[in-house]
Amino acid sequence: MNFRNPSRREILAGLGATAFTPFASRLAVAQSIPTNPDVVIIGSGPAGLSAARTLAAAGKTFVVLEADDRKGGRAHTDTETFPGIAFDRGCAWIHSADRNPMLPVAKQHGFTLQLHDDALDHIWYGREKFTDKQTQRVKHLTEEIVNANSKVAKKRDGAVSEIRPIRTKEEQATATAMGPMDMAVDFNDLSIQDYDDQAELPPNYLVKEGFGAVVAKFGESVPVFLKTPAKKISYGGQGVQVETDQGTVSAKAAIVTCSTGALQSGYIKWDPLLPEWKESAIHNIPMALLAKIPLLLDGERFGLKPFDDILLEQPGKQDIYFICHPFEFPMMIGFVGGDFAWNLTAQGRKAAVDFASSALNRVFGSSASKHIVKADFTQWPRNPWIRGAYSAAAPGHFSARAMLKRPLAEKVFFAGEAMAGPFAQTCGGAVLTGAEAANAVIKKLG
Ligand SMILES: Cc1cc2nc3c(=O)[nH]c(=O)nc-3n(C[C@H](O)[C@H](O)[C@H](O)COP(=O)(O)OP(=O)(O)OC[C@H]3O[C@@H](n4cnc5c(N)ncnc54)[C@H](O)[C@@H]3O)c2cc1C
Repeated sequence: MNFRNPSRREILAGLGATAFTPFASRLAVAQSIPTNPDVVIIGSGPAGLSAARTLAAAGKTFVVLEADDRKGGRAHTDTETFPGIAFDRGCAWIHSADRNPMLPVAKQHGFTLQLHDDALDHIWYGREKFTDKQTQRVKHLTEEIVNANSKVAKKRDGAVSEIRPIRTKEEQATATAMGPMDMAVDFNDLSIQDYDDQAELPPNYLVKEGFGAVVAKFGESVPVFLKTPAKKISYGGQGVQVETDQGTVSAKAAIVTCSTGALQSGYIKWDPLLPEWKESAIHNIPMALLAKIPLLLDGERFGLKPFDDILLEQPGKQDIYFICHPFEFPMMIGFVGGDFAWNLTAQGRKAAVDFASSALNRVFGSSASKHIVKADFTQWPRNPWIRGAYSAAAPGHFSARAMLKRPLAEKVFFAGEAMAGPFAQTCGGAVLTGAEAANAVIKKLG
C-alpha cells in the first residue's frame, strides 16, 4: 500500500466531490412540513432527538429536519451487513455510564449490557508480543502522561506531543492507545487542554443489540422529516427561517445539531453571514477520525477470549486495535484512528480490509486471514452530513469549544457532541447538550 500523506483538506475535497451526488438527485418527499413551529431542529442524531423530546415534554411545537435517509446520525446499528450480528457503525460504548443518560434508557428497554473495561489485554509490536511487564508499563505510562498533561493544561494549551518524547516501543503503544484509538487524533494533533478536560470513560458498557438501537428506541416517538437538508438559515429579522427543498420553515428559534464537519462544509448558507468568532470556532474544532474494520470469522478465535482488547502496534503509525468476539459473535472489530484512518479512508474499503488482514497474518501466522469470511470498513468521512467521527479541538484552540456553543442573536442555539464539555465526542454528551439547548429555548420562549 502506498501511504502518501495527503492533507486532511485534500482528502475531504476528494471525498466530498463524489459524496454529494446521490443526495443532490433525491426526489422531494411528499409530506408537507409544518411551516410555523415554535422551534426548528436541524439534525436527528442523539442531540436533535434529545432536544425534540425535551421540547415535546414542555408542550412546545417543533419540526426536525434531517438531511440523511434515517434518524440517529452517528448512532447507527447495522443488522444487515452481518446477518445475526448487531454491528455499531458509530457509537458502541456507553461511556461514563454512571452519568450517561443513555444507560437508563438501555436498562428500561431491556437491552443486553456488558461492562467492559478499556484496558489492553495483549499488545504486539511488529511480530513480538509484549511481556506482562511491558503491558503493565503501558498502563503506568498512560498515568504518567495524563498527570504530566494535566499539570501543563492548567497553564496553557498546545499539543500533547510536547509533553513527552515518544521513543520506546512501550511509549509508542501508549501514544497510540491515548491518541488515535481514543481521541481519534495523533499526539501532535491532540490538544493538551482538550484531552485534560475529558471525563473518565469508565464505566463503559457495550450493548449486544447495539448502542445505535438504544438511540433509535430513545428517538422512536420523535417525528423527523428525512431527506430534508437545511440549506439556508436566516436569522436577521423576526424569528428564524430555514430553507429546504421542501419549503421554508419559520420558527421562533432554531437548534442546530450538525457535526463540525457538516458545518465546515459550508452546505448551510447563513443570512447574515456567521460572525467571525463563530466561523473560527467551527474551524478550530475539526473532525477527528476513528474508523472500524469489522472482520467476520469462520469461528477461529486465535486463542483470544470474548471482549479481549488487543493492540497491534508497529513502527510508522499504522496501528490497529481489535475488540475480539464481543458477545461471542464470531467477529473481531478492528479500529484505526488519526492520520492513518484518514489515509485508509482515502484509499477505500479494500485497502482497509487488506491492512487488517495483514496485521492478523503478522501476529497469528501467515494464513490467519483465511479465517475471514466477510469484512467491512466504516467510512464516515464519505457521509457528507457527518464528515469524520467526532470533534477534537486543534492544539491551542480548546477555548473554541465554548464559542461553538454560544447562541446567535439569542435564537439560534447549537448542540451536539462537540459542545458537550467533558463528555465531548460521546453520544451521551450529545444527548445532554440537546436537552440543555432545548431548555435554553424553552426559557427564552417563556
Ligand atoms: C466510528 C465511531 C465510533 C464512535 N464510538 C463512540 C462510542 O463508542 N461511544 C460514544 O459515546 N460515542 C461514540 N461515537 C460518537 C457518537 O456517535 C457521537 O458523539 C454522536 O452520535 C453525536 O451526536 P450528534 O447528535 O451530536 O451528531 P450526529 O450524530 O452527527 O447527528 C447530527 C445529524 O445532523 C444531520 N445533518 C447534518 N447536516 C444537516 C443539514 N444541513 N440539514 C439537516 N440535517 C443535517 C446529520 O445527518 C446527522 O443525522 C463514535 C462515532 C463514530 C463515528
